[in-house]
Amino acid sequence: MSEYQVINPATGAVVRSYPGHDDAQASRLIKQTHQVWQRWKQTDFAERSEKMRAAGKLLRERASRYAELMALEMGKPLKQGETEIEKCAATCDYYAEHAQHFLRSEPIETEARKSYVAYRPLGVVLAVMPWNFPFWQVFRFVAPALMAGNAGVLKHASNVPGCALAIEDVLHDAGFPDGLFRTLLIGSKQVEKVLDHDEIVAATLTGSVGAGKAIAALAGARLKKTVLELGGSDPYLILEDADLDQAAEICVSSRLINSGQSCIAAKRFIVLDQVHDAFVERFVANMQKKKLGDPMAPDTEVGPQARSDLRDELHQQVQQSVQKGARCVLGGEVPEGVGAYYPPTVLVDVKPGMPAHDDELFGPVASIIRARDEAEAIQIANGTVFGLGAAVFTRDQLRGQRIAEREIEAGCCFVNALVKSDPRLPFGGLRHSGYGRELSQHGIREFVNAKTVYVA
Ligand code: NAP
Repeated sequence: MSEYQVINPATGAVVRSYPGHDDAQASRLIKQTHQVWQRWKQTDFAERSEKMRAAGKLLRERASRYAELMALEMGKPLKQGETEIEKCAATCDYYAEHAQHFLRSEPIETEARKSYVAYRPLGVVLAVMPWNFPFWQVFRFVAPALMAGNAGVLKHASNVPGCALAIEDVLHDAGFPDGLFRTLLIGSKQVEKVLDHDEIVAATLTGSVGAGKAIAALAGARLKKTVLELGGSDPYLILEDADLDQAAEICVSSRLINSGQSCIAAKRFIVLDQVHDAFVERFVANMQKKKLGDPMAPDTEVGPQARSDLRDELHQQVQQSVQKGARCVLGGEVPEGVGAYYPPTVLVDVKPGMPAHDDELFGPVASIIRARDEAEAIQIANGTVFGLGAAVFTRDQLRGQRIAEREIEAGCCFVNALVKSDPRLPFGGLRHSGYGRELSQHGIREFVNAKTVYVA
């Protein structure tokens, strides 16, 4: 049986290990979850809401403990960890309040005495999740899923087993039936066997493009629905009429969210020629101010990368980009000493053919690309295999809105603001960023049966 080791990314030390589940154990747990679901699917919204609110309350009570756990397992600075837990709690409250309305039956007039669409639960959904927001990624799936009357089993990223088990605990302690949501401590190779179970009706994955393709193929071969939230290379367009101080501040905050390890962090900054140098100056000055350090220290703004192999991969992408002609104007050196640290880094003169242009840089590295005019900026923004988020900076609100709505090919586009997930707004991507939506009414309707009921 495999073991899941927690390695503190700030020190490189092994802090703890957890015994994993073998296939037979995982199978028993899946069957139990399915059993528990048989009763859960008949519960009413009042019962589900009460437990979901209790989960939100417990999360708030345990926020500092869970923030420490995230800092230890994947290096998230404490303050950011507490914000993440608050967001999970707010999402529990949001679905506790709105699920019934989102899933209300919809009457449709026909010649029948009564005909309508009823939104019924599907069953046990497999969630395969990444380490970067160890609580948030799971809660944005599990809150709507349980409120819709589904059950869930989680295969979390191998480096955050403590977080995975803490999520199971919090839902259990909130009063959800034992086993309705279960953490399986399994490796990615065991996922195929999980999908073999008839009890698993669908899967959702948040993670890399490679993992998304693998899950989509496995689930597709078994005719099981999937929702995929994958990578991104979000473009932020800085037009010639932008407020450069505001743009530079928001762009830096976005690039450094979660020490640069966010799917919707800004990754490519496409700046019009006229304001390029003035923007770069402000941007570099703001990047320089951010404090890199121990995630447990209260004033740290950028922690270590979650794993040293990921830090090394990022550094390689920077070096290859520089070899191909990019100029590194800040950072770009691996700091001496222990820990998977990487400094805020800025690359300019980024061009097609460089990893900084074509690939996702999952860390605190900004790629700045110069564009001749608005049309070229839009063309560069859309010239990617991804399509998750985007932002446009301009003082002309109508211009920004037109570009956001009609020109940018992505799941969302924000004007003069940082791209963020919010329980009230649908979240998801196009192309290699995946398909399906999470959050809002759209998210809760992904894993339900839109059932026609016809009474003659
Ligand atoms: P990852 O390596 O794809 O891992 C994500 C999850 O998938 C982990 O639980 C991993 O398990 C599992 N996994 C990996 N390969 C698999 C396979 N072949 N079959 C079954 N399961 C597999 O991604 P990551 O490095 O943790 O996360 C970073 C990526 O996630 C980035 O590309 C980022 O943009 C994306 N992301 C997207 C969103 C979004 O909402 N769109 C949000 C956050 C992150 P193991 O840990 O055991 O390998």
